Amino acid sequence: MTERYLRHDMIDWFDQAKVSQSKAIVIGAGAVGNEVIKNLVLLGIGQIHVFDFDLIEIHNLTRSVLFREEDVGEPKAKVACERARQLDPNVSITFTYGDFWDELSLSQIRNFDAVYCCVDNFEARIRSNLLCRLAGVDLINVGIDSRACVVEVFPLSAGAHVACYECHLPHSVYQRLSQRYSCGHLKKVSFIEKKIPTTIVTSSIAASFACSEGLRLAIEGEAKEAARIFVDTINGTSNKITMDKNAECACCAHISGKVNIFPAQPSISEDIKGLDQAMQLIASDPILVGYRIGEAYKSVFRRASDFNSDFPAQVSDDPGAVDLDIRDSFTPDELVSAAGGMPMPCKFVMANVDDCTLVLEFVREEI
Ligand SMILES: [Zn+2]
Repeated sequence: MTERYLRHDMIDWFDQAKVSQSKAIVIGAGAVGNEVIKNLVLLGIGQIHVFDFDLIEIHNLTRSVLFREEDVGEPKAKVACERARQLDPNVSITFTYGDFWDELSLSQIRNFDAVYCCVDNFEARIRSNLLCRLAGVDLINVGIDSRACVVEVFPLSAGAHVACYECHLPHSVYQRLSQRYSCGHLKKVSFIEKKIPTTIVTSSIAASFACSEGLRLAIEGEAKEAARIFVDTINGTSNKITMDKNAECACCAHISGKVNIFPAQPSISEDIKGLDQAMQLIASDPILVGYRIGEAYKSVFRRASDFNSDFPAQVSDDPGAVDLDIRDSFTPDELVSAAGGMPMPCKFVMANVDDCTLVLEFVREEI
């Protein structure tokens, strides 16, 4: 052990060797992400990979320990990574400037021990949770506002009996999410995401609790239960509760038994043709298969969220007459015929087969 970690070695419950072997993904390099990355690096974690698709703006500087004024306009993930390397050159830290949903595969997540979800929206949290649930990797989720923070730990590597992020997600969140999309999963043109103001006090406390939970997972091994910590940073109160799995969970309901992940080519091919026709394949993203105007049907076969809600008006003078064909569930034959030779526009398809979950993941580059 190097002298750098001498003080850690003096702590009876600390195990630098285990911490130095652990690997984490950090999704989001904003206010919370900065603090989480800083903490993980100073703790001497073995490997970090950061995902963020945003650029640094001047107002980020009040809450971002890793950013400087000269960084404005640069990708958050790149700068966070460079500054973190200066904190401890022993830590392997890499980044992706892009959306984790497009860039991070299930097989890649399986190379890591934990995912820190430091985003500011429910859609990205739900997606992080789905990837972690399928990959069986621990998820630590952080949410903050101007005075309070919530840190949730989901030790999903312990097995399917552990609660996931969606197990206790209030129905109001799904209602809010549906406001972002029109009924057919096309993006609402008029929707403006509400930004939640916060300070470094809230984000740093949240990140400290998140890393403390991550540290415990790295040192003690599997935690048995999901838990939620709530801290009110103004009046100094906090509480911690454990969370049971919810049988009605929107995420867990689709995943049963062992999860088998297979790489597949995005061109729909033999991988899918050979499957049992009774099987329902659920696509990770709703697909705009095509649209009908009167008798005429036009194929599209792209991700529905690539289109705005004014799409019908773009393809017809009478938008009310455009009948959109948006689906996320197909039999293997339906999928092959809908694709018509086009590549799959989703991250993966999954199905329940003989008490197992089959996932065909469309191949990505390694990180
Ligand atoms: Zn669940």
